[in-house]
Amino acid sequence: MAVRIVGGGLAGCEAAWQAASRGVAVLLYEMRPARATAVHKTDRLAELVCSNSFRGDKLDNAVGLLKEEMRRLDSIVMRAAEASRVPAGAALAVDRERFAETITAALTGHPRITISREEVTAIPPSTERDPVIIATGPLTSEALSRDLARVVGSDHLYFYDAISPIVLAETIDRSKVFRASRWGRSLRPVRLKPDTTATADERSVRLQPDSPACGVDDGDGDYLNCPMTRDEYERFYDALVTAESATVHDFDKERFFEGCLPIEVMAHRGRDTLRFGPMKPVGLVDPRTGREPYAAVQLRQDNLAGDHFSLVGFQTQIKWGDQARVLRMIPGLEQAEFVRFGMVHRNTYVNGPTVLAETWQVRTHPTLFFAGQMSGVEGYVESAASGLLAGVNAAAMAKGETVSAAPRTTAIGALAYYVSHANPAHYEPSNITFGIMPPLDWARSGPEALEGPPLSPAPKGKKLRHLALADRALQDLQAWVHARTPQTVPAVSAP
Ligand SMILES: Cc1cc2nc3c(=O)[nH]c(=O)nc-3n(C[C@H](O)[C@H](O)[C@H](O)COP(=O)(O)OP(=O)(O)OC[C@H]3O[C@@H](n4cnc5c(N)ncnc54)[C@H](O)[C@@H]3O)c2cc1C
Repeated sequence: MAVRIVGGGLAGCEAAWQAASRGVAVLLYEMRPARATAVHKTDRLAELVCSNSFRGDKLDNAVGLLKEEMRRLDSIVMRAAEASRVPAGAALAVDRERFAETITAALTGHPRITISREEVTAIPPSTERDPVIIATGPLTSEALSRDLARVVGSDHLYFYDAISPIVLAETIDRSKVFRASRWGRSLRPVRLKPDTTATADERSVRLQPDSPACGVDDGDGDYLNCPMTRDEYERFYDALVTAESATVHDFDKERFFEGCLPIEVMAHRGRDTLRFGPMKPVGLVDPRTGREPYAAVQLRQDNLAGDHFSLVGFQTQIKWGDQARVLRMIPGLEQAEFVRFGMVHRNTYVNGPTVLAETWQVRTHPTLFFAGQMSGVEGYVESAASGLLAGVNAAAMAKGETVSAAPRTTAIGALAYYVSHANPAHYEPSNITFGIMPPLDWARSGPEALEGPPLSPAPKGKKLRHLALADRALQDLQAWVHARTPQTVPAVSAP
């Protein structure tokens, strides 16, 4: 009886810790230093490849709630983060060297964990007694990527993230933009597209923007449109083609998918290319002029709360400073605050809703689990959180116990639910947000109905609502932990 884990990053280390804490032997494979990735710099486990921040640490913030849940589930990543914490205001930031050293030491010294420094080139065979977790991250080695494509199907494995910028809704100048869909196909009040195939229970997660990572308005949604005159377009175009692009990493040197070209690459192909691509104005009549504008940028609602809008088809590699300057030339975005800048980078991940169950098991191979960025989540904390539950469940399976999903009302459960139930047609990895958690008046069903506290009316004000969601989450987490056998889960620590 053993759990084999491939990848000693945030997800793999957390999974190893959780499985070993439950008395199961763990064999953890990490290819560094024998084989490097394009971004890791050391041979340590759980190396943070970029920022040293685990983001917000307050309960009115979804990632703060996720971290609190992980602490209560005895996360090694959270323990190491606390031990290497540096001052960062309301965020949790760490001394990256100390953080990775703490985890490396904890796992290396664990009597039930064996670490093998080798590249795994094919998915190891798995059984119920010996399940396998794949947690090889966004930079999964090529040989293993090929084998993953064989198992999950090449249509369900992606190699790039093409991310469009997101702006804060309240910073859009509504006097300059107009709401319309191409050809006026949908003029209902702005809301997210319901998935009619979803059960009522699934709807709050499937009610998400119908959002292709790349491309343009498919004429089936509601958009805010930023109209441009010819002069405005020309000025924008000139600024775009002279803006500074971010450093191209080795992993970015490969060809882009033709359907996911960065806007500046399209612009370099010709002065009008964008007007026939993401900035095409056809079918968009500005109610103030009664005519189609010369060009238009479309903004699509990006979260359930409606406070974020993404620029459709505007994936870009322009440096963030220049990106803000150029994008603020778009009418209506002069004062825009950017929640996220556009990016195009290497990212290996599966189409979660097609491939995975809520327990992080591969639907077609239940003795195989995926965790971390490659399972279709985004970010350090989310990767570690998915590893935590994959480790708990793989250990349960190895011991012949029940594999289960955390309640959807918890942040850790909502993340798993999103990954396994979001709209597969346009799947994009997600950070945890309150938007993917069921609202406060959501009626529980199944075992959760018995465990959860009674429904209460949602308080007024975003912060109070978020705190109420956090309160419900922590209560439901506690109930879930207690409902499982004491041997399979850690005790819930005091707040
Ligand atoms: C350039 C870049 C910058 C990023 N910046 C941020 C950021 O600032 N903040 C943030 O939250 N997230 C960031 N991310 C996302 C980040 O990668 C994840 O949040 C997090 O590292 C994912 O954890 P993981 O365990 O899934 O993968 P990783 O931490 O990458 O761990 C995967 C491990 O698997 C190993 N491995 C790969 N293939 C094999 C194999 N075949 N055999 C054995 N071992 C293998 C790798 O060496 C690695 O150690 C960034 C990603 C990239 C690519």
